[in-house]
Amino acid sequence: MTVDVAVAGNGVLGLSTALELVRRSPKLRVVVVGPANRPGSATVAAGAMLNCFAEVTDSVGHHPASLAKFALARAALDAWPDWLEGLRDGEAGSGPALVAPGTFVVLGARATPTATRSFDAVLAALKEHAEPHHEVAAADIPGLRPVPHERPVRALYLEREGAVDARAVLDALAIAGRRSGITFLDGRADRLLSANGKVTGVRLADGSELSAGAVVVAAGAASQSLLDQLDPGRVPPLLHGTGGAVQTVRHTSPGFDRVIRTPTRSGACGMHLVPLGDGVEYIGATNIVLFDPPPGPRIGVTQFLLRFATDQFDTRLGMSAIQRWHYGSRPVPLDRFPLLGRAGPEGLYLATGTYRDGFHGSPVIAGHLADMILHPGATPRILAPFAPVRAPIETMTVEASIDLFESDAVETATEYGLRLPYFLDSEPVAAQTRDEARHTLERLARPIALQPEILAAVRDASPAHIDHLNTYLEAALPLPG
Ligand SMILES: Cc1cc2nc3c(=O)[nH]c(=O)nc-3n(C[C@H](O)[C@H](O)[C@H](O)COP(=O)(O)OP(=O)(O)OC[C@H]3O[C@@H](n4cnc5c(N)ncnc54)[C@H](O)[C@@H]3O)c2cc1C
Repeated sequence: MTVDVAVAGNGVLGLSTALELVRRSPKLRVVVVGPANRPGSATVAAGAMLNCFAEVTDSVGHHPASLAKFALARAALDAWPDWLEGLRDGEAGSGPALVAPGTFVVLGARATPTATRSFDAVLAALKEHAEPHHEVAAADIPGLRPVPHERPVRALYLEREGAVDARAVLDALAIAGRRSGITFLDGRADRLLSANGKVTGVRLADGSELSAGAVVVAAGAASQSLLDQLDPGRVPPLLHGTGGAVQTVRHTSPGFDRVIRTPTRSGACGMHLVPLGDGVEYIGATNIVLFDPPPGPRIGVTQFLLRFATDQFDTRLGMSAIQRWHYGSRPVPLDRFPLLGRAGPEGLYLATGTYRDGFHGSPVIAGHLADMILHPGATPRILAPFAPVRAPIETMTVEASIDLFESDAVETATEYGLRLPYFLDSEPVAAQTRDEARHTLERLARPIALQPEILAAVRDASPAHIDHLNTYLEAALPLPG
């Protein structure tokens, strides 16, 4: 089979990019390859909050790449209403809609210092950009009934930030894609085909081959196996941000009608509850970054998630029935910034590495990538900082990353229930994690600053993964002379 563009991966980024290509160029032959049941897909597991300002942390202004990511999220916030309208099925007269048209961000009485700084940063960003919001009293949040010692001390309502049903959006993208002439193949891309330094197609796991003028790798965290074919040292390695969530249905109370969430912490997205309608609620999400994902979410962190949702949001959640579990791998580059655009050899593009907010960013990313593929040579300014072929983007010094790892560990231990007598402070925990961080960084061929959850993944990585990582670092960061 010969096509103009082959997209390897059928998550939100693969489908959206394919759709934007045929919308711009209706005669283009586009094929999307991906397993129909989407194992490991982040999109299928996502709470699909369309959050931009609610995701802000106090480090957003510290580095141009962080600011660029925020700019992309703001563009996506503006884009979603039209994007959903464009996914309406003209024949059936229906389409995916916002399941919750607003978001409460709550700061609990026992919030960590990092969460408190994030909350302040959210409020400052809302004011700076004149984004519609208001501060609310906890008593005015419908459905909120935490245990007394977890009552929010501050809360914000963000008018334009809500959520959609990720599974419904995927279905709508597939319907719109089929109507627009996209071909869908149920299978896996096994290898990139290339000739004379140019990528010429993909080989599928069943041995068949697709010739293509351009190939887009959008296989989420699984993209790494295809990227391993490139010269080492070009693209930051991808890790799995394993995430679990639980979908429940109410029995005794109507539940929430808006997204409710906590602010973002360094190593974790905020805890959130997304109402999906008819008393169905999505409670998410855990995040453990690993090189090798286990087959399901860990019990320990899931227990923590459920306890905190009932304690901080609504004790009556304890009476809800579990409908299903969600589990998937967020695609997490070593430096946590997305991998978007040309990936080295001519004809190869990446649409991955979006970590925690790729669902929200997908309409904007897809549109710009489609432009890039149709007009090779020009890189849209908004995507330029995320060009995949790069040395790791470091937003702090190595020493600062050790400090952050330490404070993050102490805060997490405290959240999990660590309580020390008045005559001891947390220094023993801090000292141990500082040592861990230093020993972990000694495993690396180059000293680089890593975010806490990535550092933890490197600490736990097998020697084979460390070798792979070091091959990248040695090539990406050659020693002077
Ligand atoms: C629990 C959880 C909650 C989240 N919540 C949010 C949120 O609220 N808001 C937000 O914006 N983002 C959220 N995210 C992040 C978001 O889901 C991701 O950033 C985004 O969905 C990534 O989309 P993707 O298409 O790149 O990857 P994926 O959805 O992982 O899609 C990749 C697809 O490629 C397929 N595939 C794998 N290997 C191959 C191969 N060799 N060939 C072909 N296909 C292959 C996979 O089966 C999969 O279907 C969340 C993620 C998780 C896990």
